[in-house]
Amino acid sequence: MGSVQIVTTILAFAITAVAVWLAVRAVMKMVAVIRLGQPDPTRFGDPGTRTKTMLAETAGHTRMLRWSVVGAAHWFVMVGFIVLSLLVLEAYFEVVSPTGGLPLVGNWAIYGLVTEWLAILGIVSILVLIAIRLRNRPTRPGGKSRFTGSTMWQGYFVEGIILAVLIMGFVIRGFKVATDHFEYPVWAAPLSHAVGGVLPNWAAGVSVAALVKIVISMTWLIVISLNVTMGVAWHRFLAFFNIFFKRDPGANVSGLGALRPMTSQGKPLDFEEADPEKDQFGVAQVEQFTWKGLLDFSTCTECGRCQSQCPAWNTGKPLSPKLLVLSLRDHAYAKAPYLLAGGGKDLTGEEKATAAQLAHMDVLALAEAEKPLIGTAEEGGIIDPDVLWSCTTCGACVEQCPVDIEHVDHIVDMRRYQVLIESSFPSEAGVMLRNLENKGNPWGAPQNTREDWTKGLDFEVPRVGEVDDFEYLFWVGCAGAFEDRAKKTTRAVATLLNEAGVKFAILGEGETCSGDPARRIGNEFVFQMLAQQNVETLNEAFEGREKSKRKIVATCPHCFNTLGNEYGQLGGEFEVVHHTQLLAHLVATGKLTPVQPVDGGVTYHDPCYLGRHNRVFAPPREVLSSAIAGGDGASGDGGLIEMPRNSERSFCCGAGGARMWMEEKIGKRINVDRVEEAMSTGAKTVAVGCPFCSTMLNDGVNGKGAGEQVEVVDVASVLLRSVKPEQAPGDTERAPAAG
Ligand code: SF4
Ligand code: SF4
Repeated sequence: MGSVQIVTTILAFAITAVAVWLAVRAVMKMVAVIRLGQPDPTRFGDPGTRTKTMLAETAGHTRMLRWSVVGAAHWFVMVGFIVLSLLVLEAYFEVVSPTGGLPLVGNWAIYGLVTEWLAILGIVSILVLIAIRLRNRPTRPGGKSRFTGSTMWQGYFVEGIILAVLIMGFVIRGFKVATDHFEYPVWAAPLSHAVGGVLPNWAAGVSVAALVKIVISMTWLIVISLNVTMGVAWHRFLAFFNIFFKRDPGANVSGLGALRPMTSQGKPLDFEEADPEKDQFGVAQVEQFTWKGLLDFSTCTECGRCQSQCPAWNTGKPLSPKLLVLSLRDHAYAKAPYLLAGGGKDLTGEEKATAAQLAHMDVLALAEAEKPLIGTAEEGGIIDPDVLWSCTTCGACVEQCPVDIEHVDHIVDMRRYQVLIESSFPSEAGVMLRNLENKGNPWGAPQNTREDWTKGLDFEVPRVGEVDDFEYLFWVGCAGAFEDRAKKTTRAVATLLNEAGVKFAILGEGETCSGDPARRIGNEFVFQMLAQQNVETLNEAFEGREKSKRKIVATCPHCFNTLGNEYGQLGGEFEVVHHTQLLAHLVATGKLTPVQPVDGGVTYHDPCYLGRHNRVFAPPREVLSSAIAGGDGASGDGGLIEMPRNSERSFCCGAGGARMWMEEKIGKRINVDRVEEAMSTGAKTVAVGCPFCSTMLNDGVNGKGAGEQVEVVDVASVLLRSVKPEQAPGDTERAPAAG
């Protein structure tokens, strides 16, 4: 070993020792912070499926490839990062000896070939990602950036380091070529040979370049170890765990559909026995999130995909799902020293730490602990109430997140505490909650008017109890029973089912609200009260039937989601379909035949709780396409025209998450934004599959004074017009002209 190699070896191992020591400390700190969270035993089941999903999502980049160029570039960078680790390891042999290399594979031309090309593609890809970050920089004039609020230097730092390390790999190989110590032929390492052609024949070059590469790599490790909240770097390690422990192990997108039940100490809360002095009611302190919640916050890469799709953020509200996650992450890590030193409040609000413990605590951590989790900027709050209440629970953030963060569950957990313990929520929603408790529906309509929609139909609508050979129980829903526009959809569906010869029956006055608005606003108590009552009624209606014969058809996607995905948590197992699914089946099997083509062009608005939350994208489109064609292959004028934001990336109407019953005081109205998009297609008909979307989009059309040009109408009504053109006019949902 020459004198140069002695120096390079000592320096390389010294900086590595420091970096590794700091990294171990950082990992221990992160584990300690994550362990502060509440237990969640549901995250460990089915490890086989979890492993398969985790491998598919990381190796296949299944979530990111939807962002085509970014996804492909990120895949090469990820693979490049893994290869890079091997090449950094190789550098330790090269600082010791210019001819050094990895044992076993180091002299193998195929290894040389693979690493050469992965490094080349890695360099191209990282340049693409840097260009994308620059093009989308928040300071760019005009346009919205998904990076607004992200810590930009960290992104550039990580990308710059990867680029530098990959380039140094070619410099090392170049010196090996120049000094005639290179094992791989030109065909296996063409770029390395080209670099070697321009480098001097300097014997120490390999070891010095290898030292530079190690110093760059270890600088990266030191910087990220000193910044444990640097998600843009740490997600490379944490994403595997976050994906593995996702709520729904086999699902591509986890954290949609059902909400996570309310738990205390890892067990679902039973309101008959729950005691707010002993049981946790939602989340009031950051450590009351589960450990998976804290892992979620730690894993955020700050990519801003969630933010770019959020309807609240896109219409000027203060809510960005990314900034919410980052605020919770930064707060958790800043408060952690206080919690780890024995601090914290018990459920009655009493301090757990002794005076002696408090006296020795980090003052910054103590100050952080004093901040309310929900509070305005003046109160020093971490999450502003306007942020918390702006969420429509549309799920666009969850859908987009490449590392499977479950934003909606966290938002609703914070709402639960605010509603159940603090009674603090937008006051206008109080009327809705009172109506649910007293009348069993959000409008406060008398229960004995639930069947009014059946009046005037030219056939009898059977009730459960009067008949017992029904195939489907038709769940009408509160909107479908009481709201004038939605009643037309209910009538259209009943007429079509009758026309197709489907045996169905309704509960009539036996039905109450499914509980969706109560649950999404955070009032789990009212939700459970309504849900238990409905589960009892439904179990009685289906008594003696196996699950596959306990079929329900619902017109409201919120009821569809709650009955199908959430009633199981309370002992109600049913096969629930949305009316568009059943209608698509009836058309496909020839039980319904569209005859009259629909003219003027039709666009379809995906309801969040049907599409994103439950993956029902095709059936409504199939129904509409058949109606547009009008049977016999005759093509309606204009056809089905997709809006730019459709299917998984559909834009919310603004009514979900109980926002239907809250005033929208900040920014542009979400429904207006969506209506403008729908009108930009030029379609005369905007088809919907949800009574709330219908109300919101009709209001938006009327607000724009376009009620005479554009019609918002349910998919069922579109089909009815095509199947029974002579009957349909009475069942249209034409919005009254704005006045
Ligand atoms: S659920 Fe929808 S509204 Fe709520 S934060 Fe996510 S994207 Fe925004
Ligand atoms: S999409 Fe996920 S990883 Fe990206 S900023 Fe949002 S929460 Fe963080």
